[in-house]
Amino acid sequence: MCGIVGIVDVGGASFPLYYALFALQHRGQESAGITTYDGEGLRKHKAQGLVAEVFDESVLRELEGTVGIGHVRYPTTGAKIPENIQPFNVTYRDRKIAIAHNGNLVNAAELREHYAQRGQIFCTTTDTEVIANIIADELRKSSDITDAVLLCMKRLRGSYSVVMLVDNAVYAFRDPLGIRPLCIGETDRGYIVASESVAIDALNGRFLRDVRPGELVCLTGSGIRCMQIAVANHRAHCIFEYIYFARADSVLDGRLVYEVRRNIGRYLYEEQPVPADIVSPVPDSGIAHAIGYAEGSGIPYREGLMKNRYMGRTFIMPTQEARENAVRMKLNPVRGHIAEKSVVLIDDSIVRGTTSRRIINIVKEAGAAAVHMRIGSPPIRSPCYLGVDMPTQEELIASGRECDAVRESIGATSLHHVSLENLIRAIGMDEADLCTGCITGCYPMAIRKEKCAERVVDFVAGSYQSHLATFEKETSQDS
Ligand code: AMP
Repeated sequence: MCGIVGIVDVGGASFPLYYALFALQHRGQESAGITTYDGEGLRKHKAQGLVAEVFDESVLRELEGTVGIGHVRYPTTGAKIPENIQPFNVTYRDRKIAIAHNGNLVNAAELREHYAQRGQIFCTTTDTEVIANIIADELRKSSDITDAVLLCMKRLRGSYSVVMLVDNAVYAFRDPLGIRPLCIGETDRGYIVASESVAIDALNGRFLRDVRPGELVCLTGSGIRCMQIAVANHRAHCIFEYIYFARADSVLDGRLVYEVRRNIGRYLYEEQPVPADIVSPVPDSGIAHAIGYAEGSGIPYREGLMKNRYMGRTFIMPTQEARENAVRMKLNPVRGHIAEKSVVLIDDSIVRGTTSRRIINIVKEAGAAAVHMRIGSPPIRSPCYLGVDMPTQEELIASGRECDAVRESIGATSLHHVSLENLIRAIGMDEADLCTGCITGCYPMAIRKEKCAERVVDFVAGSYQSHLATFEKETSQDS
């Protein structure tokens, strides 16, 4: 989980990058960074904290240049150390390169070992640096970026949406299975490539299309070029992006996330209706699902919990007791809506179960007669290796437990998860084009000793330059 953006803007890239990262803040709150190219060299600023904490106006004015990339980080691999904050900048011969990545490589350790043996030096513990090293290594053999990206992609296994600044151009590429999102937009003064369409909206831009799985795009002041580098027999878009991770107002691979969540809510009602007085979301992650449930059931939608949106990570909680009570600082019950009522309480997912247990407790203490918990994902029983921070199998409350045992553990009157079948229906894609690893334990590529339904990937051969088509040509063919 991370958010990435690359921008070309004739008026200067730093402020648009800042606005775009702000729109992607939900994808990572640990740190933020921007690198621009000022015509001679790279300028960078990165630090721990939220986007609005890391940058101020004077910092953004220092980040001169009409091209740049940015990143918000939520660590899945690599320690929380300053060296791991992205983008990473490297100079290779006379080329200035910066790189930022969203995803997780499953063969990062092997690759790191291989390149370390050959004498390459690693300064961080992230797999993003592995990608940067492979690109630099390939550029040693050929100065062509498309060759370097192709050869790099052939070595990578896992999920990766990458933005890369090479002198005055922004390159972006997406893994052949399209696991993490990436899309392209146009603004009045240039172009943007970003993890989610909300970043394009933040610049008042026009959404053009998603970066295709296995595609490389190049943004410069004179336009967009694109090239299909790899094609897989099936995709593997992450279902958890739709369930929880992406913003509800984003459109991912052609689906409005809000709509998917509302559909899930309707299915939750159809699958297991229950007589109740109100339908209430766990804010904010359960709101769209709860609206769908209320629409499907006709049961009134009422907010039973109000969220204090100003409680950031820096809120002082010196003791364990204070941390355990943090949920009370964040969520306060609306007693008048809940007391003596039978409540259908809706959240997107249960991972460890800690949040649900605490929230159900708050609702019960506010006098609810019954708490019927409804969850917008099937039980999560397996860890994610492909970029979502999901704990080990042992920490997942649904792992090795039946639904009723989970219900008892979290203290709900009843508990129901949406079925995988209806979740897939709500997303509206073929199951073979989705990664359902966290639910089924079957992954779209070979990972350790896990089960897999491996996708077959073909790489485009021959002279890559000849495959470059102008973006305009491609979109007119599409339409
Ligand atoms: P818990 O069951 O206590 O682990 O918390 C699950 C809740 O946290 C869900 O309802 C989501 O809203 C949210 N959530 C789900 N997955 C993640 C994640 N990987 N990182 C942070 N929050 C998450």
